[in-house]
Amino acid sequence: MADFDAETRKDDLRVGTPLWVKTPHSTLAAKRTLDRKHADVVVVGAGISGALVAEALTRQGRDVLILDRRPPVRGSTAASTAMIQHEIDVPLTRLQNRIGSRAANAAWRRSVKAVYDLVDLSRRLGIECSMESKPAIYIAGNLLGSRALKAETDARNAIGIEAQYLGKSELLKRYGMDRSGAILSPASASANPAQLATGLLGASLKRKAQLISPVEITDMAELAGGVALATSDGQVITSDHAVFCTGYEYLHQMNTPAHHVTSTWALASRPMSGLPEWIKTTIGWEAADPYLYFRTDAAGRIIVGGEDEDAGNANSDPAKLASKTKRIAEKFEDLTGIRIGRPAYGWAAPFSVTRDGLPIIDNVPGFGRIFTLMGFGGNGITFSMIGAQIIAARIAGDTDPDQSVFRFR
Ligand SMILES: Cc1cc2nc3c(=O)[nH]c(=O)nc-3n(C[C@H](O)[C@H](O)[C@H](O)COP(=O)(O)OP(=O)(O)OC[C@H]3O[C@@H](n4cnc5c(N)ncnc54)[C@H](O)[C@@H]3O)c2cc1C
Repeated sequence: MADFDAETRKDDLRVGTPLWVKTPHSTLAAKRTLDRKHADVVVVGAGISGALVAEALTRQGRDVLILDRRPPVRGSTAASTAMIQHEIDVPLTRLQNRIGSRAANAAWRRSVKAVYDLVDLSRRLGIECSMESKPAIYIAGNLLGSRALKAETDARNAIGIEAQYLGKSELLKRYGMDRSGAILSPASASANPAQLATGLLGASLKRKAQLISPVEITDMAELAGGVALATSDGQVITSDHAVFCTGYEYLHQMNTPAHHVTSTWALASRPMSGLPEWIKTTIGWEAADPYLYFRTDAAGRIIVGGEDEDAGNANSDPAKLASKTKRIAEKFEDLTGIRIGRPAYGWAAPFSVTRDGLPIIDNVPGFGRIFTLMGFGGNGITFSMIGAQIIAARIAGDTDPDQSVFRFR
């Protein structure tokens, strides 16, 4: 029997106000008290990853208890800029060199599939979350210039991922951006992340799930036939399996040199008129470090993020919030020619990165029945979809063809 404390990191998951918390249906009511002692699966965390895992498990007919120490969907999911990308932070050509072509190709292909699956799932469930399929433009920067972007386009095409290289003049003519080149690829999307997670939780509640908040899990033990979890107020819940969907507040058992927490900043403008058509229908990001990424929402706001720093606590500095959002707006204007003016919303948050840009989706080391998904980087929503699919398969006793790609490292 493995017996460990289930201490997860504690962070201010958001500093400042992201726009999503001000939109309707961005959270849902939870029961405040735990009045049962057993479930098939306990899901710890009610953000996008917990919502997707709960949806997948209740679709299998399982009885799921979702617990969170915060109100539902008030962790980093509410801070997300929610560009739903198949483009992993580490370009395919670089990932192939780092982890080998087989694993790199599998990770990239799986991300494309995850975006399509998520768009399809949200539509099938009728979730109103402004989900829109959009192409993505990946713009040359200090990490990849035009030659490297061309090679990247060829590598993607060679494994069946649609991508089109745009040279300098075409980029300027079609998008008004004066950079040496870009890759245009169709398989991306954007959504209101809080409404998406709320909708998924709501769908699970209509099946066999219960959502309880606030409840904090502090200890866990694995027995021969199941799992026991203890709460901070001394209650014990048993289940066949547990899944920690605690985002950047990961379990200390998951500490690994392959992964660390950083800080990131984002802003949203007021609704703007007269925006170029392309920016309403395309998401964009730079092949640069620190990078800039941007999208619009249904109301015509521009949402831009970036200026990441390699320190997990930098995001809690209020002075930095002002200077970073100013810098992001300046960089965005320099790239696109669009002036945002004073942002309507600005926020900062912890963020996590893995060395290879891939998430960790696995059982917690030493525990066969306790799973976790974490290490999401800039693709938390896409990777949460992959995580939900892999973990649901493993709990069902099946093997997912890509599970070894995302194993604990
Ligand atoms: C500024 C910013 C921009 C981003 N932009 C994008 C983007 O454009 N596209 C994209 O795909 N991803 C993006 N991401 C990443 C993505 O938003 C996150 O990876 C994702 O939201 C994480 O979701 P989660 O459900 O794992 O975590 P969270 O939403 O943080 O949920 C985890 C929950 O676990 C709970 N919890 C933790 N420990 C315990 C415990 N012991 N007991 C009970 N409950 C516990 C917390 O209270 C929390 O509510 C961005 C992130 C940030 C911060």
